[in-house]
Amino acid sequence: MRHYCNQCKKTITPAVYNYSMNHYNHALCRAHQPKNNTSNNEKSGLEELGNFFSQIGKVISFLNEKGGSGLILTVLGAVIILYNLLMFNVWTIVVGGIILGVGIFLLIKKEQNK
Ligand SMILES: [Zn+2]
Repeated sequence: MRHYCNQCKKTITPAVYNYSMNHYNHALCRAHQPKNNTSNNEKSGLEELGNFFSQIGKVISFLNEKGGSGLILTVLGAVIILYNLLMFNVWTIVVGGIILGVGIFLLIKKEQNK
């Protein structure tokens, strides 16, 4: 069976037909398939993720300037504990506690070295 584009009536391959039916519920050739669809959403999603990580990177470098790795671990441990208190996840609270403890230990050590 041959497939045709609904708009220009050109023959389309079964692969294009299946893709078009799955994504747009119409048989459309590549030229008539809507652009700015899922690929754009994915792109903006990736950009948001990139922004999110660059924000985290900024926070980490800020903390590193202020208090070194001890402050990073303290904040990281506190965030993990707070987050997992909401989730009632006991084991990750323990892990967060260990990270927090090491962070505070490093902070105290750094203060003593001053
Ligand atoms: Zn077409």
